[in-house]
Amino acid sequence: MSQKQLVAVTGASSGIGEATARAFSAAGHPVLMMARRIDRMEAMGLPNTICAQVDVRDRDQINEAVASAEAEYGPVDMMFANAGVARLAKIDRQPPEEWDEMIDINTKGVLNTVKSVMNGMMERRRGTLVIMSSIAGRKVYPDHTVYCGTKYFVHGIAESLREFLSDFDVRVIVLSPGVIETEVLTGVLDEQTLAEYKANKVKIGGGISADICAELILNAYNLPQKALVQEICLTPTRQRY
Ligand code: NDP
Repeated sequence: MSQKQLVAVTGASSGIGEATARAFSAAGHPVLMMARRIDRMEAMGLPNTICAQVDVRDRDQINEAVASAEAEYGPVDMMFANAGVARLAKIDRQPPEEWDEMIDINTKGVLNTVKSVMNGMMERRRGTLVIMSSIAGRKVYPDHTVYCGTKYFVHGIAESLREFLSDFDVRVIVLSPGVIETEVLTGVLDEQTLAEYKANKVKIGGGISADICAELILNAYNLPQKALVQEICLTPTRQRY
């Protein structure tokens, strides 16, 4: 059994979640990987890993995955509530079903994920919650209205959780990336918004690697429990807004 503590990641089947699972695994941690595409997680073949087919909208699925990983590896010491979708579009032409999906996954999914480990961390008086927001949780974009709303929600709850959990020595870190190279744009179904996003990406010289996010999370986690990086805001150097 590994000496290092169990960490858990939602949205571990691609992008920033995958990179973070790989980084913590390479550092010797057992990892609970959660997402809907279990084949993608299993194909990575990481050691000391549990791959669980989880939809973050389903509280029972997350709770069961956490309980079964903890039975094998001990308590989750770091939870990365990362799973999210970006259905970017101008709101006047966006199907409301896309609002529902983003709100359910990006906001309630994050709460479900946090709740699955939070009380245990409070009892143990240690643990780290890394919560995925976005640069779109710090400033608005006219073609990201509902996505921005979900990420502002994440900033709001994370700041409240940070204050609440500080008395229990539990750390809350918010991650607010700009343009990162992942599969996130496959979720943008509005052609005009996608074309404009891609054009802007070319203008700024492309996004940056998800591995950089993962390294920052690992470094922040590795600080003494007494030290907290409250927010990681990471963008390409040429990304002005
Ligand atoms: P990806 O599309 O590569 O990854 C998204 C991950 O979320 C996948 O693993 C996907 O897994 C998972 N996911 C989506 N919906 C659910 C669900 N209902 N239940 C469980 N897992 C789910 O994109 P990113 O890595 O870029 O996205 C990760 C997070 O980063 C998101 O919250 C996104 O908003 C945020 N972000 C991304 C930025 C970027 O530029 N890339 C910038 C700022 C923030 P599966 O489909 O297998 O379930």
